[in-house]
Amino acid sequence: MIKKLIRRILGVGSDASTTTQAKRFGPEAHGINPDDVSPNAVRVTQALQKAGYKAFIVGGAVRDLVLGLKPKDFDVATDATPEEVKRLFRRAFIIGRRFQIVHVMFGQELIEVTTFRGSSTDDAPKDAHGRVLRDNTFGEQHEDAARRDFTINAMYYDPSQQVVLDYHGGMKDIRARMLRIIGTPEARYREDPVRLLRVVRFAAKLEFKIAPATRAPMAVMAPLINNVPAARVFDEMLKLLMSGHAMACLQRLRKEGLHHGLLPLLDVVLEQPLGEKFVTLALANTDERVRQGKPVSPGFLFAALLWHQVLERWEAYRAAGEFPIPSLHLAADDVLDGQTEKLALQRRIATDMRDIWAMQPRFERRIGKSPYKLLEHPRMRAGYDFLLLRCASGEIESEIGQWWTDFIDADGQEREALLQRKPAQETAAAPKKRRRRGGRGRNQTRSESAD
Ligand code: ATP
Ligand code: MG
Repeated sequence: MIKKLIRRILGVGSDASTTTQAKRFGPEAHGINPDDVSPNAVRVTQALQKAGYKAFIVGGAVRDLVLGLKPKDFDVATDATPEEVKRLFRRAFIIGRRFQIVHVMFGQELIEVTTFRGSSTDDAPKDAHGRVLRDNTFGEQHEDAARRDFTINAMYYDPSQQVVLDYHGGMKDIRARMLRIIGTPEARYREDPVRLLRVVRFAAKLEFKIAPATRAPMAVMAPLINNVPAARVFDEMLKLLMSGHAMACLQRLRKEGLHHGLLPLLDVVLEQPLGEKFVTLALANTDERVRQGKPVSPGFLFAALLWHQVLERWEAYRAAGEFPIPSLHLAADDVLDGQTEKLALQRRIATDMRDIWAMQPRFERRIGKSPYKLLEHPRMRAGYDFLLLRCASGEIESEIGQWWTDFIDADGQEREALLQRKPAQETAAAPKKRRRRGGRGRNQTRSESAD
């Protein structure tokens, strides 16, 4: 109390760890439409409450419900331990070793149930830069709220009473369309630098402003991301790129001064003039697909983001006298190796990327059995979509994309006729004249047919 008073007199913002009381908002105030709430999430909270535990829908789902958006998924927070949760449901699995959570399955839908976490990170083990390494104590609800990232992500919704509990002014911030980190921004970024990427993602996705104090230390703290395990950075990058607002996110990264030195991928994507049109098209395409609820393949996305780097390396190897196809594979290796230190591209994704890249010269061999073989390729669709992006960006003549579109649609006779269209074939294989850079500019694709 006295601490609070002193803080108020000194004008220091409220300390996250001292906020134990939540504001309550009823249906009129929060405006959540019960029809937008997943019936399975309601089942989970009700079953827990019936067994005598506290249970709330929490995090992003509450935020999205209050905003009138459709939540991607529903998380539940409770004071029951994972074992206690598991006992209540038929299809429930305890996941994770250090901090256990429970996955409750209903057909395709997964409800993630987490036990309230303790707030204090003071005693938690940290790395040399202050990043919290383990933080797996259970705690009170107010402690759970304090360790969440943003005020708008720290609200709890009880569907039975239709009440929202708000510990950190999330409702006010939602109305002001303001993204505000809970607690002292520097300390929170230090504890977990991935929050820097989360600021960017939510600001772009929700079109929220970033509170000045939340924003101020971001650029200076960016290098801390280097100490985060690559797999976590990858997960967060993937969320960013698949948010349906990838373009806006990347623009925001640039605006916040986070685009340089943060990740090799971003340096490549945001600082390569030659590939800009290609990347822009790829991201616009991805955003559109996400918004239409269509699946997006991470392999395709990363293959697109790094394509112009591959092209550059490919040309360099060929200029050094390598054969075209081995050159392409060497280039792919270089590019993938350069990323994996900080961005743990899963093997499956890296394999997809390689397949998509390796298919590209094959599209230019429009003779004999080659096109038929390519049609059989398991990743044909992705490779073809990639080819169309290359055409649309002006990297190669659009004729070749059209030829493939026709070939895919055609019946047997028409396909033979297309294969006879020699003149088009010869000119189409050559890429458009590329802007020369650093002594490059060799025709990249013409020699493929010799391979
Ligand atoms: P989305 O709709 O994109 O999934 P989300 O808010 O649900 O957004 P998640 O990554 O699914 O984001 O995280 C769920 C919740 O867990 C968040 O709302 C937040 O309360 C908490 N959280 C997630 N990551 C962090 C973090 N790095 N630091 C603190 N709290 C976090
Ligand atoms: Mg979520």
